[in-house]
Amino acid sequence: MRSFREMLGKRWKCEHCSQEHFIPTEWILDGEGALERLPDKLKEMGWERVLIVADGTTWEVAGGRVFDLLKGTVDRVDRIVLPSPPEASEELGREVLGAIGSDTSGLVAVGSGTVNDLTKWAAQRGGLPYLVVPTAASMNGYTSSIAALIVKGVKRTIPSAPPIGVCAEPEVVSSAPQRMTASGYADLQSKSVADIDWHISHLLFGLYYCPLPRMGVSSAEGKLRGAEGRLRRNEPGAVMALLEALLESGMGMTVAGSSSPASGGEHLISHWLDMNAERAGRKPAMHGEQVGLGTIISAKIYELLLQSDPSSWQSDPSDLTPPERRRGEFRRRYGPDAEEVMEQFKAKWVDEGGRKELLKRMAEMWDEMRRVISESLIPAAQLKEKLGSVGAPTRISQIGVDEEEFREAILHAREIRNRWTSLDLAYLVGILPDRVDELLGEVI
Ligand SMILES: [Zn+2]
Ligand SMILES: [Zn+2]
Repeated sequence: MRSFREMLGKRWKCEHCSQEHFIPTEWILDGEGALERLPDKLKEMGWERVLIVADGTTWEVAGGRVFDLLKGTVDRVDRIVLPSPPEASEELGREVLGAIGSDTSGLVAVGSGTVNDLTKWAAQRGGLPYLVVPTAASMNGYTSSIAALIVKGVKRTIPSAPPIGVCAEPEVVSSAPQRMTASGYADLQSKSVADIDWHISHLLFGLYYCPLPRMGVSSAEGKLRGAEGRLRRNEPGAVMALLEALLESGMGMTVAGSSSPASGGEHLISHWLDMNAERAGRKPAMHGEQVGLGTIISAKIYELLLQSDPSSWQSDPSDLTPPERRRGEFRRRYGPDAEEVMEQFKAKWVDEGGRKELLKRMAEMWDEMRRVISESLIPAAQLKEKLGSVGAPTRISQIGVDEEEFREAILHAREIRNRWTSLDLAYLVGILPDRVDELLGEVI
């Protein structure tokens, strides 16, 4: 297998992890004229009544066109046009769910991150298939099997079936603001550190791991090599190559059965900033922009770890306080979300004795860990160069976050999810909280 694209709709036994993998997405239409080919595809699938989901902006860009194209083909085309930009909330997901008719055959999401997530979530709840018409190469969630929504104030990834098909028209995808393209490129960069996080939890805790997702994205990334300048100009060919890599990344998550291949500590930093902005009633920066900055932090953590000696590894005494005794602190930090966050944090809490064990295990497999890290790691300095070359932010001032808030994000993002990441590792060996300002220094 060179790419997941060769495996659309297929089920196979993996030679690497010996698990069975399955990609529910059956087709990808891309290239010029993709939209015109959509009506035939729908006929082929036997869809008679469809619900188009868009927001005000994506309706203008492509939704109306899809509506007109399908009107003459299927019996009935319904639509729901959400406020622009829509919020990735369960409430809005329920509105989409409510717009599904009793004889709707499937949903058509016309949009990017949030529209896709809301549609994916509603289709899953409604027991229907959906397809997506991407309007930007802005993130890797199109083909993943999870929807990221804010539930009870906390950003959650909810298992939901991926789209049955993707219909990507170059002219539409590249008409998105360049900022979205840069954001997608930044989201894609997270895979280097996320894969390390995932691989290390496999080594330390015996959790499931498969190298296939990393391999799939690497092959698609080949086409992106040297394309940074063209991405900066939003050239259709380069934007479509980026979208292809993002679709691969999404399918990698589907194959893995979780977001682990593409979402580690760097994504927790982004989710933490989202939650913080939500509590303050502010609009957060774009997902990929925040993830790009989180990726720089994660990469730096691994660089510091590589430079360290196992004999120096030790958790800071201040971090040995068990979750139960942090209640007051959590209430101050997370308000009404405190208990929900506490549950996540508790699930991966390791006490002093457990940490000694873990550090011992780490020291024993240090050679292998070093190899795993070095193989995937893109150093922070190189990452910043890559991000900067497409116009993605490399400093927090560019996303309107101040030093205090971002320092808090580095220190506390691990608390919001039970997944083990670079941030937990940093606390385990004592890089955090001690060297937080050094990490922060990478992005100011
Ligand atoms: Zn596998
Ligand atoms: Zn992402």
